[in-house]
Amino acid sequence: MAMNRIQFQPGLSLAGFLDQYGTEAACARALRQARWPKGFVCPRCQYRRYSRCANRHGERLWQCSACRHQSSLISDTLFASTKLPLTRWFLALYLLTQSKTNMAALELMRHLGVCYRTAWRIKHKIMQGMTEREAGRQLGGIVTMDDAYLGGERNGGKAGRGSENKVPFVIALELSDVGYPHQAVMTPVSGFTLKALAAWTQQHLRPQADVYSDGLGAFRSVIAEGHAHTVIESAGGRAATEAGDMRWLNTVLSNVKRSLDGTYHAFKFSAYIHRYLAEAQWRFNRRFDLKILVPRLLVALARCQPWPERRLRAVTPFRPAELQR
Ligand SMILES: [Zn+2]
Repeated sequence: MAMNRIQFQPGLSLAGFLDQYGTEAACARALRQARWPKGFVCPRCQYRRYSRCANRHGERLWQCSACRHQSSLISDTLFASTKLPLTRWFLALYLLTQSKTNMAALELMRHLGVCYRTAWRIKHKIMQGMTEREAGRQLGGIVTMDDAYLGGERNGGKAGRGSENKVPFVIALELSDVGYPHQAVMTPVSGFTLKALAAWTQQHLRPQADVYSDGLGAFRSVIAEGHAHTVIESAGGRAATEAGDMRWLNTVLSNVKRSLDGTYHAFKFSAYIHRYLAEAQWRFNRRFDLKILVPRLLVALARCQPWPERRLRAVTPFRPAELQR
């Protein structure tokens, strides 16, 4: 699909969304289908037989016939212990997936009619679901990659590489044979060292990827990991080869930076940058069909373990690839 057809695809209209997910019962049905597509599975012991019961609030429970563990529709998922109706959550899923640009917690607060802290929790839980969904993504074939930085501009740091208060991240794009972008990975790293890039490479490149980047020394680590590596001369130098065309990478990078800077300008990027980047990555990698984003995201959240606010806030500022192994 050409880029303009991606931009002009109709997506899911608000009316269409309300037809599908406008009631608690419809949302519960959709969540149940996302969580247990082949029927109930006990989250403790994986047993499938159950008896039905209810808690004192009348909420439906599934009691495992083997271990007697009681599950509600939302327990052991990212929705666990929420006091909000599912319709609000689904509206948040709709707003965060169908809007053209990112939506910050403040805007989400206004649309959902909740307090800021609740909107922040919803936003970060949804981004956490996207982060876990994207964590295992690997690129292969022709891959262009670059070093990039977010934040810090307002603190008087130097521009470009190595400036203070900026959070470094890797952006990489898998291209088709004709140079069209397939999928992207955007992840924070502790710095552009050989060690950090080697760990990133092991985690995010499939064997024998054909890597194109500029001449930054740390990118040599992809060779040590067994990949072909071609250095592309930077702007003003000789023209890039068609295979290693960096134009798409630059376009995607500037879109992401503009979108993040425009949406989250009041926040420190460093604290939760892995989630902000994963959100951008999740959206980019699903840009071909906006209509399926709500059900896709629902599956991600239903399979995600609970993330109470304390845990959402306590997460290490960023999780560089070399620390995850
Ligand atoms: Zn069980």
